[in-house]
Amino acid sequence: MPRTVVTGGAGFLGSHLCDHMLANGHEVICVDNLLTGRLANIEHLSDNPNFSFLKQNVSEYILVKGPVDNILHFASPASPIDYLKLPIQTLKVGSLGTHNALGLAKAKKAKFLLASTSEVYGDPAIHPQKEDYWGNVNPIGPRGVYDEAKRFAEAITMAYHRTHNIETRIVRIFNTFGPRMRVDDGRALPNFLSQMLKEEDITVFGKGSQTRSFCFVSDLVAGIYKLLISDEDEPVNIGNPDEISILDFAKELKALTNSKSKIINQELPIDDPQVRRPDITKAQQKLGWEPKVNRKDGLLKTIEYFKNELNIQ
Ligand code: UDP
Repeated sequence: MPRTVVTGGAGFLGSHLCDHMLANGHEVICVDNLLTGRLANIEHLSDNPNFSFLKQNVSEYILVKGPVDNILHFASPASPIDYLKLPIQTLKVGSLGTHNALGLAKAKKAKFLLASTSEVYGDPAIHPQKEDYWGNVNPIGPRGVYDEAKRFAEAITMAYHRTHNIETRIVRIFNTFGPRMRVDDGRALPNFLSQMLKEEDITVFGKGSQTRSFCFVSDLVAGIYKLLISDEDEPVNIGNPDEISILDFAKELKALTNSKSKIINQELPIDDPQVRRPDITKAQQKLGWEPKVNRKDGLLKTIEYFKNELNIQ
């Protein structure tokens, strides 16, 4: 049975990955310091003999006993509100945390998969974003703490690959949604849904003409698994290319929730990317992967989860 470490395994994506790896016959060791992750996300796994949880901060030394075959490095604050509140921790986990996770991969001769992000493209001047685009990032802006940490993480991952022959994978994750998102994580979808379900005003930042492309979590996790078992060392975009403006997204959610809330405009955050859509040609060709769940079906499942979390019938 392969042994797989998931750092950030108690987070939104990490916990879905833990489920997916267990379902594919892996033993899973979830490492998380619960800074933005939650035990509630992995509670259902507590009786599974193939699952264990280690409360550790990966920015310090990571201690995992016994052999390890795969390390999926997902630990990091990931929503803009979180990394604006936790700038130093975000920089540390992307740099020191990635260094430690790579050190663990080297010591255990394990395969290493880095959770990178569409944020490496910054506010992109090329649209849609292809893996060979180097990006447009403001290193000293408020988002720089996340973007540059992840860019460093990609750089050190490739350096370990080239210097120490570690088998590495880099997934550039685009906006993803689904059950287990934190209702208060500050992202567009959790904010909009909480506001609609509580009949509060819906806060669209700027005019809402900026675009995003939202992928349902089950598709994302399936793509990551395909990348892990592929032999592609260089970055691969995983996301859903179905692009929508934030204003239209708010309207779509309002219709799906039958909400009476009013859309109001608030100031656009600094360096907010104006467009974002993955070019997934590489994932299609090299992994045979593409998303299957359309946004509306994914949103209906997510709305049920949010109603439950907020105790709304
Ligand atoms: N956004 C918004 N209202 C909110 C939260 C976010 O209009 O209450 C906008 C935000 O400015 C951005 C988009 O929605 O243009 C997506 O933001 P999110 O925080 O979900 O993640 P990002 O894609 O920027 O990392």
